[in-house]
Amino acid sequence: MHKKLLIPGPTEVSKEILQEQNRCLIGHREKEFSTLYAGITDKITKFFELTPDIKPTVTTSSGTLWFDIVARSVVKHKALACVNGAFSKRAAQTLQSCGKETDILEVEMGKAIKADMVAEKLETNKYDTVTVCHNETSTGVRSPVKEIAQMIRKDYPEVIIAVDAVSSLAGDKLVPSEIGCDIIFSSTQKCFALPPGLAVGLVSERAIERAKTVPTRGGYTDIVEMFEFEKKHQTPFTPNVSLLYALDKRMDLLLAETHDGVYQRHKDMADYTQKWAKKHFSMFSEPGYESITVSCINNTQNKDVKALNQQLAERGYLISAGYGALADKTFRIGHMGEWKLEDIKHVIGLIDEIWQIGK
Ligand SMILES: *Cc1c(COP(=O)(O)O)cnc(C)c1O
Repeated sequence: MHKKLLIPGPTEVSKEILQEQNRCLIGHREKEFSTLYAGITDKITKFFELTPDIKPTVTTSSGTLWFDIVARSVVKHKALACVNGAFSKRAAQTLQSCGKETDILEVEMGKAIKADMVAEKLETNKYDTVTVCHNETSTGVRSPVKEIAQMIRKDYPEVIIAVDAVSSLAGDKLVPSEIGCDIIFSSTQKCFALPPGLAVGLVSERAIERAKTVPTRGGYTDIVEMFEFEKKHQTPFTPNVSLLYALDKRMDLLLAETHDGVYQRHKDMADYTQKWAKKHFSMFSEPGYESITVSCINNTQNKDVKALNQQLAERGYLISAGYGALADKTFRIGHMGEWKLEDIKHVIGLIDEIWQIGK
């Protein structure tokens, strides 16, 4: 039996979207391709209310490629990497392993990165790039990227701000021009509810101008080249056309639902899940900074999550254990993508029944 995915990526993909990949292939230097691709980037532009100084691109890669893109194409002399969990840590390690001098601002797992913490680092050191994770999937923490970006834009206008929104873009509401960030990226297997294999990047002119002065851009990670090809509605290398068909369809669905509608649906699922979690367990994430796409719950009742998943599997669902060192201490429910409140109510009802926890 297929287990429907309530894990924080990959998330469940509807039949309607899966079928889009069945179409015949087209050559990526053909006019037909440019029409398809231009349509997708137009829809992305509309959905995220992109201003002319912020441009979209789609890479054939998972989201992690963007750690390398930021490291190779954007960081010039020195970066500040904000770390509050496993994914932001990986971003920091990527900057370092690409040979870029990097300072790390680290807070305890479960805590958010806040503007004053970043300001304190920027006061004492000179950085040209700051990286921050909007939605730390390992801890279910949502950091106030808008406050961080606004502070940087105001006091350090030359600094490029790169935001990992892999598990929140197209679920949570993120409008780059309102936030004030330069680069924001996401993979398609999270809130976009597509199969894995594509990543969406929204990039400011400022970041592209910076990249032109950075000599280490590499090949697949060269953001200047990417946006040169964007002018022709093409990608520098062979893209996954099948997935682009699916993305095109998904953007139609997102636009029909509206950005506010998508946000509210995720917020409702998060509120329901977290109210339940607080009643029977507690939240791992710092109060006030809970993610709206994934709930990371302290396993205060010492429940057997593996056994739960075996029983949920018989009913056709899968949730997630904690990440890494948090495996037994927490469990996570992913409520991202096309899920609706009624689905979450149903699955939480099943968990109540299996664990015999009262209403
Ligand atoms: C899933 C995830 C990643 C990694 O994305 P891939 O698409 O698996 O490469 C990075 N950051 C965050 C916050 C994530 O949730």
